Amino acid sequence: MTKIIPQPGIMEIAPYQGGASHVEGMTNVVKLSSNENPFGPSEAAKEAFRKAAYELHRYPSTDHADLRAAIGEVHGLDPERIVCGVGSDEIISFLCQSYAGPGDEVIHTEHGFAMYRISTLANGATPVEVRERERVTDVDAILAACNENTRLVFIANPNNPTGTMVGEADLARLAANLPERALLVIDGAYGEYVEGYDSGASLVEARENVVMTRTFSKLYGLGGLRVGWGYGPQHVVDVLNRVRGPFNLSHAALVTAEAAVRDTDWAAKCRDDNTRMRAWLAEALAGYGVASDTSTGNFILARFADRAEAEACDAHLQSEGLIVRRVAGYNLPHCLRITVGDEPSCRRVAHAIGQFMGRAR
Ligand SMILES: *Cc1c(COP(=O)(O)O)cnc(C)c1O
Repeated sequence: MTKIIPQPGIMEIAPYQGGASHVEGMTNVVKLSSNENPFGPSEAAKEAFRKAAYELHRYPSTDHADLRAAIGEVHGLDPERIVCGVGSDEIISFLCQSYAGPGDEVIHTEHGFAMYRISTLANGATPVEVRERERVTDVDAILAACNENTRLVFIANPNNPTGTMVGEADLARLAANLPERALLVIDGAYGEYVEGYDSGASLVEARENVVMTRTFSKLYGLGGLRVGWGYGPQHVVDVLNRVRGPFNLSHAALVTAEAAVRDTDWAAKCRDDNTRMRAWLAEALAGYGVASDTSTGNFILARFADRAEAEACDAHLQSEGLIVRRVAGYNLPHCLRITVGDEPSCRRVAHAIGQFMGRAR
């Protein structure tokens, strides 16, 4: 028996399950399992990435000043309070590393994003799961679960995999009523899909206990590049910058993300297309008797009668070369999460679900 053992909590981590991308023996599969932008990144971003090939021998910027300035300009934020990470996953990790350790509690919700629990356990802190109300974040339940050991409260708004969100008044009420030592983290991975929503930026600016995380992996189509960022009060950003490695982001990642955020036309096109196809897909599924909550993200959570029906539908979709996401790991065994693809993909997945439902019921 080895005496070499990891820190407490680490062996409790159930490794993250990514969305599948292959079906055995199938070509021409459509991947709708990871909430990727079906159109990919903007041409300007791809051009910036190609140019970065000529700078591969150079160490990257350590302060990310150009990318922070671009984000600040486009989103109307103070660049001094932005911190960039290897995906927003790294910002989540920095927050747990900085604010939660053994004896501390970190709150996430019943159908919350898996990385909150993983990063909490990786730092020896205790994850606390709070129930939702019919797949919607319940601010009162979160406040009731808080105590003097609560250090972080993670909510994704819009939430993944439910697609639902809570309003700004609810977020403000949550922030205002947290215990003194707790920090609210608003994960805005899907915030850009919601027109007129600032993903919590104004709440960050109004308070000392709110941080927002954002990503280039979804609307900007750069999941493979790994760039995310956080926006927080100066005291939090100063802390995160101490734990952040000086060269956490490559030059290629920095310049590509900068070009992506500045291409606001591409972002708007992708968002509008998502809005249109999301409504179409939800309506098509409803027509086949498959319910879903009104989604605010780039995916739909399709609800089936039970786990067996969801799994049988998933098996049928796979046989048709369509890959969606099982979400039993998110306490939703009777659901499948379907990314809103381009129009042909949406038509294919709707058609296959229609076939399945015609046979199943
Ligand atoms: C996809 C996603 C992220 C983004 O993670 P990255 O590390 O930036 O790719 C963060 N939070 C939620 C809820 C997500 O669904």
